[in-house]
Amino acid sequence: MEHVGRPKAAITLDASKCNLCRLCINLCPTYVYEEVNNKMVIHNENCICCKACEVLCPQKAIKVIISDEGLYIKRYSGLSSSCEDPKR
Ligand code: SF4
Ligand code: SF4
Repeated sequence: MEHVGRPKAAITLDASKCNLCRLCINLCPTYVYEEVNNKMVIHNENCICCKACEVLCPQKAIKVIISDEGLYIKRYSGLSSSCEDPKR
């Protein structure tokens, strides 16, 4: 495999629904959310698109839109002998 990218996420957070419960801050594995002066700041570029925040936000304030624009997987060009089953 020559190059593996990853999907990109566009996150929207509806501030009118958010009650700053901080659940998303505590659950996001890649620290996308931060609270600054009673406002949520989103570090979109850290998102790994697991969608946990969207599913678990009690206020349904988060939408994670995944685009595969950044996903680029090139086919492995050949099986190396070290990958073959030695018993065969
Ligand atoms: S989990 Fe939802 S309601 Fe809670 S802080 Fe995050 S966006 Fe706001
Ligand atoms: S989708 Fe996953 S990685 Fe992205 S912001 Fe939500 S919890 Fe964090």
